[in-house]
Amino acid sequence: MPELPEIETIKNDLTPHLTGKTITDVTISPDPKTRILRRFPSQHKFIAELQGARIERLSRRAKYLIFDLQPSRTLVIHLGMSGQLLLRSHESPKEPYIRAIFHIGKKAELRFIDPRKFGELFLQLPFANESPLNLDRLGPEPLTKDFSLAYLTRCLRKSRRKIKTFMMDQKVIAGLGNIYSDESLFKAKIHPSRITNTLQEDEIRCLHRAIRKILREAIINRGTTAFDKRYRDGLGRMGRFQTMLRVYQRRGSPCYNCGTIIESARIGGRTASFCPQCQT
Ligand SMILES: [Zn+2]
Repeated sequence: MPELPEIETIKNDLTPHLTGKTITDVTISPDPKTRILRRFPSQHKFIAELQGARIERLSRRAKYLIFDLQPSRTLVIHLGMSGQLLLRSHESPKEPYIRAIFHIGKKAELRFIDPRKFGELFLQLPFANESPLNLDRLGPEPLTKDFSLAYLTRCLRKSRRKIKTFMMDQKVIAGLGNIYSDESLFKAKIHPSRITNTLQEDEIRCLHRAIRKILREAIINRGTTAFDKRYRDGLGRMGRFQTMLRVYQRRGSPCYNCGTIIESARIGGRTASFCPQCQT
């Protein structure tokens, strides 16, 4: 699943191409099983609200891509497990599994492609009573000063969960998923099964630093295109961070630090990969 660095890369790629442009029309795939507009009453109304809207600003919160539009409304896109958001010329051949197309100006298309159908589109209208998506419920962004060492320490001390599960809780830290929780734990030399309130002060400091460093490096390297090859940036290119992974999807291969074979375990319903020697 695309995580913070992948969505940040897509946002950065699309910003210069989309800012100030108008959504002339929207096409939504007629698949009745699609969850894409699950929280919006009508597809017809969704399209009508977007036709002619100007894109003022793109931003990211956790794993969500946010479009501020004029007249005032907000379009939020979540790519789910395997979604892609590609900017293409309207003449370029159509990819399989297109769920929605945002027609931009006369010649460009922003295509939302989603074979596994876990992705979703949200539309927040001004003065609507109910928000389709409460972004305020998310925890702090790990690369802002809100995610301080004191904040992380406080959260860890009052929790008794396994650290791997804790790190993927979007209400605690926004934007981390399987890839970057595995990689941060390896960097901090902490076993993914450790119970959060047993972490020592120096371990918490290492983990805080590791999360921020791994995310920054992943953004610089334009995200991770893992084994499934699904992740693409906003213009269809692969990421580069997959060549720098130390544990994620490396089960059965030797640890780069110590040579011990990387293992994996199911923790909280997700697969954690780790070095049993380096991480304690
Ligand atoms: Zn090792």
